[in-house]
Amino acid sequence: MTDRTKGRRDFLAGAASSLLAAPLLARASRAGAADAPAPEAPSLESPLRAADYRRVTFCDPFWAPRLRANRETTVPHLFRKLREVGAVGNLERAAAGQKGGHEGYVFADSDVHKALEAAALCLGSGSDARIAAEVDALVPVLARAQQPDGYLDSAYQLDDKPRFTNLRDDHELYCAGHLVEAGVALFEATGRRDLLDVARRTADLVERTFGDGPGRRPGYPGHPELELALVRLSGATGDPRYLRLARYFVEHRGEGFFAVEHRTPPGEYDGTYWQDDARIRDHQVIAGHAVRALYLFSGALDVARETGDRSLQAAAERIWTNAVERRMFVTGGLGSSAHNEGFTDDYDLPTYDAYQETCASIAFVLLNERLFRLTGDSRYADVVEWTLHNAVAAGVSLSGDRFFYVNPLASRGGHHRRDWYRCACCPPNVARTFASLGRHAFATSADDVYVNLYAAGAADLDVGKGKLRLELRGDYPWDGRVLITVADSTAGELALRLRKPGWCGGPVAVRVNGAPQAPPSERGYLVVRRAFRGGDTVELDLPMPVRRIEGHPYVEQTAGRVALGRGPIVYCVEQRDVDSPVAGLRLPAAAGLRAERDPALGGAAVLRGPALAAEVDAATPLYGVGPPATRAVSLAAVPYAVWDNREPGAMRVWLPTG
Ligand SMILES: [Zn+2]
Repeated sequence: MTDRTKGRRDFLAGAASSLLAAPLLARASRAGAADAPAPEAPSLESPLRAADYRRVTFCDPFWAPRLRANRETTVPHLFRKLREVGAVGNLERAAAGQKGGHEGYVFADSDVHKALEAAALCLGSGSDARIAAEVDALVPVLARAQQPDGYLDSAYQLDDKPRFTNLRDDHELYCAGHLVEAGVALFEATGRRDLLDVARRTADLVERTFGDGPGRRPGYPGHPELELALVRLSGATGDPRYLRLARYFVEHRGEGFFAVEHRTPPGEYDGTYWQDDARIRDHQVIAGHAVRALYLFSGALDVARETGDRSLQAAAERIWTNAVERRMFVTGGLGSSAHNEGFTDDYDLPTYDAYQETCASIAFVLLNERLFRLTGDSRYADVVEWTLHNAVAAGVSLSGDRFFYVNPLASRGGHHRRDWYRCACCPPNVARTFASLGRHAFATSADDVYVNLYAAGAADLDVGKGKLRLELRGDYPWDGRVLITVADSTAGELALRLRKPGWCGGPVAVRVNGAPQAPPSERGYLVVRRAFRGGDTVELDLPMPVRRIEGHPYVEQTAGRVALGRGPIVYCVEQRDVDSPVAGLRLPAAAGLRAERDPALGGAAVLRGPALAAEVDAATPLYGVGPPATRAVSLAAVPYAVWDNREPGAMRVWLPTG
């Protein structure tokens, strides 16, 4: 082992940030070459299928209450607010042929489309008269607002702006993307085609307008999204033109089109913000606006999956590695700076000023979910779990009607969720993510069932040669014991692949029908292979000690501090739970912490134990010599995902250890 390697291994073994460390260790050991950089995971011959979210149900203590609030509160709230702020009115007035007075940002239509997608996904999981009524009311409005050639964008129609003249800033193609996603979602959820027809007419117009065929013009979306939507539409309709257009957008980005569009002299143009600084295969790091970057590479992976283009996958894996090793917050979110709503430099991960837009966290889940389906590698499913349980879940209150757009890792007491934002991208994005959560829980191939989330519930899954029903029991994520029952199976022999989470450093006890087993590990999964029959059980015991997570030595903002984690959950300290100012808390290395369930937080596991508080009075100098005097206090740390659900106050994820 070389010195360089030893240093790396010490960091990996020593860092409690085992979300990252454990997958990387697993990657090296899987490759059987701990002394050399591990190769990227090879692609599967046939990409995995995500579970049908409509056939996955949750009855666990973490997600089930959130999904209920999403359906009963969040989705109706979205439509109420979209009417209040004029976003629905924009479309109604366009439908009535009126002119002038567009309300809100130029991309306000996209918020309506995303709310419609969330509503459609809810209807896919079960009937709901109130949500169905919203869909019934809005779809005809969109159909009437659409112009005969397929154009639909109320900002341009009301204000009579010449279409497709500012692709860089004006989001027409972004709005088209969310319209297409809503149309496909409603079609897949309910079989109704009216919104799909609207979406398809818009997609056809875009397809006739852009590209390199006869009569078409160059260009690509200023804000990627349509790329993902077109691949989805191609899958739903079987029409390859949409996939070809998605590929065109992905592959031509980086030509500097926005400089031409805005007559920016080449020497003065920096396209980084729009990922227009390099061709898709040439990006070395993840940079620019976070949501744009992550949607772009998610779209590139969709194209890669449909075309078998490994070079697109390799580019996405490269920027993923940069993200998780140098640019990801401990909560699994991305985007260090408000300045560009995006990335800055490696290891620049602020706490009070962490931007971590909720949409960026959702987009990171989309990217990881796609990488997982291409590779079957648990590293990506690990990030999906981590980001969902921390950065994404924090984006909405437990009540379902208050939202974070920006998600800092520390607050002096002034940062709170709001019931709406003028830029309202995040609330409907959370709603559509929660409404389709089941697709992240399981995946299948011809002979394999992957279990990625261990939340209690049930899933009906299609495996290549039959069907399988799994029922999960337990209190995950507050407890690591999981009981999986194969309630029914016509699938014959198959491999049940149980993700060994990256945060899980210790051995995982596995019992099949009560008998201890030592299943082999492949790509981070424990593989139980047998001809399952109805009633067979698989029990897992995932050790969940409290962990002290340390940042990389180059992350200045976390030096001398630890974050607390247990299972897939990252914790924070809120002012209401401690009787001295959060800013003066210290967590000594010897302080033992225990997990206790708290009924006031929906039964969440809260960490309790001793800590120290700095003794501060009016005479304490701003700059002194030596450590401050301290006194013993009791600490309670709550999941970051549930902070700001009680009395407002200061909050901190990273605690000084000195
Ligand atoms: Zn957002």
